[in-house]
Amino acid sequence: MNNKVKMDYFSAIKNELKAHFSLLLQDVKILKDKMSGAGREEELVHLDRMIKINNSLFQKLDKLLEIYTLDTRFSNVTRRKVSINKLLSDVSRELMRYVEEKKVKIKLGLLQKDIYLNLYEEAIKNTLFWVLLNIIKHAVPSSDLIIIVNEEDKIVKIKISYLRKERDKTISNYRSLEFENLILERYLKIEEGFYTIKSGDNGACELIVNLPLKMSKDLDKSIPQTGKKIVDIKEIIKDEKELPSLSVVAAKVVSMATSDDVSASQIAETIKKDPALTAKILKVVNSSFYGFRKQITTLSQAIAILGLSAVRTLSLCISVLDRFPKKSDDSFNYQSFWERSLASAVASKIIAGKLGEKETEEAFLAGLMQNIGGLIFAKYYPEEYAKILEEHYTLGTPIREMEKRKWGIDHAEIGNVLSTKWSLPEILTKSIRYHHSPEEAKDESEKIRRTINIVHLGDIIASIIYDVNKKSNLTLLREKVSQYFQFSEEDIDEIMNKVSSELEEAAQNFEISVSETKSYAEILQEANLELGKINLTYEQMNRELQKAIAKAEKLAEELQKANKKLKEQAITDGLTELYNHRFFFDLLEKEFSKSQRHKLPLSCIMMDIDFFKVFNDTYGHKQGDIVLKEVARILSESVRDGDIVARYGGEEFSVILPKTEKESARIVAERIRRKIEETAFPGGLEKGQVTISLGTSTMLNDEYDTPGELVEAADKALYKAKENGRNRVESFD
Ligand code: GH3
Ligand code: MG
Ligand code: MG
Repeated sequence: MNNKVKMDYFSAIKNELKAHFSLLLQDVKILKDKMSGAGREEELVHLDRMIKINNSLFQKLDKLLEIYTLDTRFSNVTRRKVSINKLLSDVSRELMRYVEEKKVKIKLGLLQKDIYLNLYEEAIKNTLFWVLLNIIKHAVPSSDLIIIVNEEDKIVKIKISYLRKERDKTISNYRSLEFENLILERYLKIEEGFYTIKSGDNGACELIVNLPLKMSKDLDKSIPQTGKKIVDIKEIIKDEKELPSLSVVAAKVVSMATSDDVSASQIAETIKKDPALTAKILKVVNSSFYGFRKQITTLSQAIAILGLSAVRTLSLCISVLDRFPKKSDDSFNYQSFWERSLASAVASKIIAGKLGEKETEEAFLAGLMQNIGGLIFAKYYPEEYAKILEEHYTLGTPIREMEKRKWGIDHAEIGNVLSTKWSLPEILTKSIRYHHSPEEAKDESEKIRRTINIVHLGDIIASIIYDVNKKSNLTLLREKVSQYFQFSEEDIDEIMNKVSSELEEAAQNFEISVSETKSYAEILQEANLELGKINLTYEQMNRELQKAIAKAEKLAEELQKANKKLKEQAITDGLTELYNHRFFFDLLEKEFSKSQRHKLPLSCIMMDIDFFKVFNDTYGHKQGDIVLKEVARILSESVRDGDIVARYGGEEFSVILPKTEKESARIVAERIRRKIEETAFPGGLEKGQVTISLGTSTMLNDEYDTPGELVEAADKALYKAKENGRNRVESFD
């Protein structure tokens, strides 16, 4: 089962339980209402207790299901080195909003020497967040939440306690912590005894982390250094020779395109010198990415159709991609890097299109290349850069800050140097330079600023698709989009939808392998499942649940109705709603063998309306139909339960009478005949205007070999009734 299916499964269970519990509660409440007379105090107390138990049971189940849900969310999380101090400060930073609302202060006492531990950061972080959030929610305003981290003798203790200002002592009994502990414990178990959790003094919650021997000996050896010799990235940047260069052909294309007097055919000639590049360009041009119906077979054609600058940009995209590894190795995940870059490129292209720009390739290239500087870090410090990216992707720590702290330069600056070295047009070098800080580009031309804004948004969109904090990134996107371009909500939805649908195609074109692409709906769903979910109040959640249940129930009901209808159609006659001819024989067969097996009599009545042709001719077919329906109704009314009435044919009906002997069958038939005769049919008819003839047959002692023979006998009797003057009953001897 994949995670999504699991989650659906759990929420389905939850819905079902919820429904059961609310029914139970309803029942109990109804009971309580009924009982609220005098002298029933004892029972009422009992019922109140039941209500309480019911509620608390549901809450517990709810929590347990939450645990499983969390479990499935984190089942694909991997361990990595995490700084304990950082983890705690991140969590408390994220809690700030709630803290402010509740006027609770978080006091964080961190370790003197930071400790890096190999743990499931995401799971621990979210769980801690949850535990702390619950404490905050239950806290008295103006109280302090104290998190103290101690390191003593191979143990790190994270002590969470809660101080009420007015009484100035730690709260003695924090009841609702119980279940949060359970959740926390669940995660800690993942680490196989690496942690323990216990109730500390004064009701505080204590998380005890055992340090592995190796690490406790040498605590300050935090992030392990790679074996490589230390290189100064800034020196590398200065020495241009160390930087990757463009292919000869690509460099030529770039230089040609900047001068005006170069013809399309000259550019085509240059690109053709690199057959691999030519083939790739044609592949992209012919893909559904562009959606031309006609096959484009030559570069000159491509230039004629797409324009010179589009083809130049395309050839640049391809050449740039060729300069760097695309497949991941042990130390750096290039695939993920390019996947994100591609998403950002596609997004930039779509936004440019949305803005009505004719040539969207430039935005595509700018989006693709904006983070290219990072690949220089990846080349010299793959593991460390991978870590920085990971922290950026999962926690949203500003990437440039981390780069600057570590290497004194950030990827935007390196990218700028690199693209300048390649003599790329200004619009590209500038958008690479400022893609993280559009506000620094206020002196640039309007066109450049626009492209910078576009790729900035492209980057945010990539982070919505790939990063952990989807919700906050979505909010950021909405903010920035309306700030830059005044797009509406629908525009954003449209852009996001397009990005997810075009990403795969683009990946094929540029030979970048992408993981399974998600639809925008799936992305939104994930965003909603993120921790923001607990922002919902219980009532909101409840309402959502009720809505979901109601919807599911309605669907089920409709389905059931539809099924029932289908089934009935196969066995009943549309006009009279009696069983049809085919089903009549199915049932007769069963009754026939039953009767033979148990040596029980079985009778059959065949009947036919008299002179119905004349009736139709006189009163019309419509009136005829009314009579048929009415006869059917009378027939159904005139027989016992267990007798089977069917419309045998046009104006012929049949009845099966199990356990009925000859004389009784005759009596039933006669009763029917008389009833019809005595009915004044609707449409202003008089009594006696509609009559029927009937024939009966009976099997007493296996006189018949097949059901058909029994029917045939009744039919013969019917014929006799017609012959003998109609409106009468005859029996087959
Ligand atoms: P008899 O007394 O000998 O049975 O005379 P009849 O006219 O009833 O005999 P016949 O079997 O020749 O005619 C049956 C008529 O029943 C013919 C047809 O117009 C009519 N009929 C059959 N099915 C339907 C139906 O579904 N609706 C209507 N209105 N008439 C039907
Ligand atoms: Mg007939
Ligand atoms: Mg007839």
